[in-house]
Amino acid sequence: MMAAWKAARAGLSCAVLEKGNSILSSNAARCGGPALADTRLQEKEAATVTVERLFTYMYEFSRGTVHAGLLRNAIAKGREVETALQEAGIEMMLLEDTYGVGFRARHFFLTPVQQRWQRLQNLLESLGVEIILQTEAKRLLQDENGTVKGVAVRNLAADREEEFEAGSVLIATGGYLGNEEMIREHLGDIHIGALGSRLSDGAGIRMVLKAGGLLDRNWGVCTNEFGGYHSRMKGRSSSNMYFAIGGGLLVDRNGRRFMNEQRMSDKPLSLGGESTVREGHYYAVLDDDYYHSLDRGTLYDYYGRPEEWHAGRTVHDRPQNHREEDLEKDIEQGCAAKADTLAQLAESFGLSCLPETAAEYNQMCSQGCDSRFGKAAYLMKPVQKAPFYLFAYEQSAWCTIGGVKTDEYCRALTPAGSVIEGLYVAGMDNGSCYCVPYYDNEGAAVGCAFTTGMVAGEHMAAYVRKRNL
Ligand SMILES: Cc1cc2nc3c(=O)[nH]c(=O)nc-3n(C[C@H](O)[C@H](O)[C@H](O)COP(=O)(O)OP(=O)(O)OC[C@H]3O[C@@H](n4cnc5c(N)ncnc54)[C@H](O)[C@@H]3O)c2cc1C
Repeated sequence: MMAAWKAARAGLSCAVLEKGNSILSSNAARCGGPALADTRLQEKEAATVTVERLFTYMYEFSRGTVHAGLLRNAIAKGREVETALQEAGIEMMLLEDTYGVGFRARHFFLTPVQQRWQRLQNLLESLGVEIILQTEAKRLLQDENGTVKGVAVRNLAADREEEFEAGSVLIATGGYLGNEEMIREHLGDIHIGALGSRLSDGAGIRMVLKAGGLLDRNWGVCTNEFGGYHSRMKGRSSSNMYFAIGGGLLVDRNGRRFMNEQRMSDKPLSLGGESTVREGHYYAVLDDDYYHSLDRGTLYDYYGRPEEWHAGRTVHDRPQNHREEDLEKDIEQGCAAKADTLAQLAESFGLSCLPETAAEYNQMCSQGCDSRFGKAAYLMKPVQKAPFYLFAYEQSAWCTIGGVKTDEYCRALTPAGSVIEGLYVAGMDNGSCYCVPYYDNEGAAVGCAFTTGMVAGEHMAAYVRKRNL
């Protein structure tokens, strides 16, 4: 959509092909909002995040595992993305620094989901962009030199094949959250609950590979920051999912601790999520004191309101509406247990090492020092008051990370490192802009999706003009 805006503004004709039956199908249409640099909103609040600042932060976080030039070019498009959204009449506000990264880059959409992308569609159509729904891109059309000349699609409404010729093509099909096989191939034999659209099934990535492209090397997910998830929990959510990010004892399928749980309470989208994705299945173990703490106050209260705990203040000082009736249903559906002893609790899920783990953990709590994984002393609360509770979790995600290798203008590259002429890749299908773990500055997923779209659109317009296509 951003590329279409850019191309249309450059006076080119352009079509957006969407598999879904509405422009609201995309994850972008439903998301919270993007991280952007150098916007007017930031200027207005005297909170400008310069392009240099955001780039340096994200590039350092990636430890050089992304394409520096691409990330820099993308971040530099923040203000233009804001312009496009404003032109469409989409309103945003600037959020506070939720995760303590030191700046306020995340913009939050105020325009309701149902109207947001409709407004963008209206703007694009007023600029001459054709938006064609129920059209599934299947294959790239190439000439004898491999230059991309268009795309073959399935017209889902008419149930027939069609071809679109084009001077250049941008692939942005949103990753592979809807493709369990691809998730297993790249992330291991685990289940990831899809919080985003399942229409994104890796088609774009496969099309580029078939056209001679190459995969980049970062594979992961942008995980759910609000809590755990379990596939057995069909058609309902449980307030006990929150304990996944509560900072208390977490164990793996053997009952052993596997991470510093503070990564989940403080950075669930990125560092914490990555550790739990590695495990596939993980479990929160609670004593009665911790379990009922949310009936008495907030999680921040439970840990004694430590001043130095940033996420405690910004994320965990909100009432959680903890519902007692959820426990019974969780147990019924096979994703929770309650027992009088830790040994009995361990048996319910075969976590053989749990009693030993809890004993070691309680010992460290009494010493006020996590000598194993370095969790902050203020989060070290013993698991000692019966009855005990256990909640089983899998991971869920907003979108996937991992895709096609591109250059700094989003042009798809071959294994030899040359450009596939006429072929561009943006958003989650672009494997060269997102790192693993996912960036810890919120809004980076859709921020980079919008801005890589803008980078691609600008280059596509210049490419098409130069060749008189
Ligand atoms: C509920 C929700 C909230 C989120 N909140 C945030 C947030 O606050 N901040 C953040 O950074 N990220 C957030 N995300 C993630 C963010 O939405 C994505 O990172 C972003 O939308 C990716 O953009 P994209 O263009 O790559 O893919 P998408 O926005 O998913 O767009 C891809 C489009 O391609 C279509 N498509 C798929 N296959 C084909 C095909 N073969 N042919 C034609 N069309 C096809 C899809 O239907 C879809 O419309 C959220 C996601 C969800 C689901």
